[in-house]
Amino acid sequence: MKYVRSFGGGSAEGRAKDKALLGGKGANLAEMASLGLPVPPGFTITTEVCRYVMEHGADAYPDGLDDEVAQALARVEELTRSRFGDAAQPLLVSVRSGAPASMPGMMDTILNLGLNDTTVEALAKQSGNAWFAWDCYRRFVAMYGEVVLGVVAADEHQEPPFDRLLDELKRKHRANRDQDLSEAALREAVATFKAEVQKVTGAPFPDDVRTQLWGAIGAVFQSWNNPRADYYRKMHGISSTMGTAVNVQAMVFGNLGDDCATGVAFTRNPATGTPELYGEFLTNAQGEDVVAGIRTPEPISELATKLPAAHAELVRVAKLLEDHFRDMQDLEFTIQKGQLYMLQTRTGKRTGKAMVRVAVDLVNEGKLTPREAVLRIEPGKLDEVLHPTIDPKARPAAAAKGLPASPGAAIGRIVFTANAAAEWAQRGEQVLLVRTDTSPEDIHGMKAAAGILTARGGMTSHAAVVARGMGKCCVTSCTALRVDVAKKTASIVGGGKETKLKEGDTLTLDGSTGQVFLGSLPLVPAQLGAELGTLMEWVDSFRTMKVRTNADTPTDARTARSFGAEGIGLCRTEHMFFQPERILAVREMILASDEAGRRAALAKILPMQRGDFAELFRVMDGLPVTIRLLDPPLHEFLPHAPQEIEEVAKELGQSPAKVAAKIHELTEANPMLGHRGCRLAITYPEIYEIQAQAIGEACALVAKEGVVVTPEIMIPLVMVPEELRRLRELVARAFEKALGGAQIAYTIGTMIELPRACVVADRIAEHADFFSFGTNDLTQTTFGLSRDDAGRFLPTYLDQGLVPADPFVALDPEGVGALIELGVRGGRATRPHLKVGICGEHGGEPSSVEFCHRAGFDYVSCSPFRVPIARAAAARAALAAEAKG
Ligand code: PEP
Ligand code: MG
Repeated sequence: MKYVRSFGGGSAEGRAKDKALLGGKGANLAEMASLGLPVPPGFTITTEVCRYVMEHGADAYPDGLDDEVAQALARVEELTRSRFGDAAQPLLVSVRSGAPASMPGMMDTILNLGLNDTTVEALAKQSGNAWFAWDCYRRFVAMYGEVVLGVVAADEHQEPPFDRLLDELKRKHRANRDQDLSEAALREAVATFKAEVQKVTGAPFPDDVRTQLWGAIGAVFQSWNNPRADYYRKMHGISSTMGTAVNVQAMVFGNLGDDCATGVAFTRNPATGTPELYGEFLTNAQGEDVVAGIRTPEPISELATKLPAAHAELVRVAKLLEDHFRDMQDLEFTIQKGQLYMLQTRTGKRTGKAMVRVAVDLVNEGKLTPREAVLRIEPGKLDEVLHPTIDPKARPAAAAKGLPASPGAAIGRIVFTANAAAEWAQRGEQVLLVRTDTSPEDIHGMKAAAGILTARGGMTSHAAVVARGMGKCCVTSCTALRVDVAKKTASIVGGGKETKLKEGDTLTLDGSTGQVFLGSLPLVPAQLGAELGTLMEWVDSFRTMKVRTNADTPTDARTARSFGAEGIGLCRTEHMFFQPERILAVREMILASDEAGRRAALAKILPMQRGDFAELFRVMDGLPVTIRLLDPPLHEFLPHAPQEIEEVAKELGQSPAKVAAKIHELTEANPMLGHRGCRLAITYPEIYEIQAQAIGEACALVAKEGVVVTPEIMIPLVMVPEELRRLRELVARAFEKALGGAQIAYTIGTMIELPRACVVADRIAEHADFFSFGTNDLTQTTFGLSRDDAGRFLPTYLDQGLVPADPFVALDPEGVGALIELGVRGGRATRPHLKVGICGEHGGEPSSVEFCHRAGFDYVSCSPFRVPIARAAAARAALAAEAKG
């Protein structure tokens, strides 16, 4: 077994394809080295070792690893003509994590390793720059102290110890910025930091460079299991067993003077997708300064003026890498004395908007085929492109402005810690997380927040990168903002005035412009650009499943049509009754004491329904419209307030006491498993009869107007075939009578929402023209888990990894999926061409849509805003199936 792979000096023991073994960073460093790009030499300790350590405990390494590391290190020494720990020509290294899946900032990094009181003097002499050598040393002691030795702040309200000590020194020496500290002050910093280490850990800072190296390697491996990495993996569905690699690489220095710099760059703009080299750099700095947001970096375009030769080289390398990987790259680089070095390349994280633009541009540039472009799309990210923005007509002056780090608009009440964000969100509040800057510890709060605002940072700072990954609105570097976490207040200072804010105040953020507004502003729906249209054309050329929408109102139906819906897959008729003047009629119907009473109430409902259906048919002209007959969870409709009870009593000509008694009688222990769905029509057939009549009359009406109407009548919550046989007969009779001779093709089908229905699907299919899986109820009944109460404990199950995802969000393939497959098989055994669809919430969730494709569905149906997502997911599923053969 070879646990260590070398790279640099024009060759490498690995390639980009070796990510599982070398991690993303290591594999791409190897690829860059093999392409002959300027990569400082180094080596990668494989993920195999991390898995070994996880199994055998910290510091238990496989046999022979020491020797392999020693040999690889000797190779680096040779290539750099230096020696690790040498008193004349010391080699310094960086030690960085790098997992197979990108987890930016979640694990640990140590720079400038190999410094001690002897080597620092050698570095000073060799570089001719003592300030630089001591700057490296103080950075190293702080980073190593924090990461490896665990000298960290006690809680998130406190400043990290080394930051605090450095701030004290800066005050003492009247230095505004880190780089204003004198060499003597830096020496003092090293001594103070070491004393802090001794105080906190009870042991001196390690001087032996090999001890330092193995300490760092161990810490990086251990960081695989730190809470923030764990949280990140859960959020992104990354397996916790693959482990991280460790990259040990010769240091190059961006802090050797003004002809040095360090930065990050994207080969295209990651927020908009515009083809331009985009990024930031700092002169005379090390990489951590850019990411940490301590100094505000300069845009890459400035590099062309400051270090033109290095800039030209960066442009050349960026193009080469993008062409090589055929995708937008995210680069890390350092310029040492005018010479460019590449430290990382990886596929760049991007907003939904940039994802669409880059995919379409790469095809137009001939670098990708439409098929490849569609396979690159993350369907869920299209959500961002469809995000609402602030209404331009209602845009007051901004209270402050920062950088537009991640687009979209967000409105929320402000909180100042990640924990507060998580707690408030748990209570159902929409919050904005407002911080001086964010750190990886804040990730749960960022996830919980609707948007993120930071006083510091840049376009590539932690907040920006993480928010973009989450598709969340984010404004960084809002320099007018001051945050006082302890007092739970903030202020916006500028133009000679100060606006005070406290926890719970409302702000509106515009992540596309970087503007911050006081209070809550109106939003308008997204405008779909030409690129999305092009991409969607490709998507539609590959997919085989139809995509319909769940819509109960003409407005929703219109929106869905504009997003490409090919029909309505679910119109919940009970949702048409929530307006006050209508709910009264429904209540009368439910509470009537006999059939005559119910028919009287239904007579009021009939014209309303007819009008609603007619309008839906007009909007969906030419497309199928599935109307589900009444399925009211009774508790949602029963009146509770005395005034409401009186109102219904008056209409029914009964006493309020009698109505109250009836309400009591109707109250169910488990309304979600109660008298709902077609059970209602088995007991009160007139309800479906009148609804079928309303649909028939609406069809006849619009057909006369020239509208092409294809009604599909759907009967919910069927558990035994006989329910469907009876109700189908009743519905067909009433519908045809209402048509009054008009020739309209229609079908009658059922929802499959119960495990029993899946099992007896062959017999249910005898009476059904189509099946539509109601996976909300099917998940509830398969798991025996109430749809309405799951939130109370499901988060614990997710945290503890008992379920991989919320089954009400992503379809559970093992349980619910197996029942669906059984249902499809049964149904098609009876009717080989049975039309099969889904209309539960899963119909718009990418992994569930892919499942439906594999299970042989004809269509999925989802909420209007998710129609483009479902279209893209359906196309990817079709392409994946094709690739499998
Ligand atoms: C379902 O159960 O999946 C469904 C679509 O019906 P509803 O959510 O209205 O119960
Ligand atoms: Mg249902």
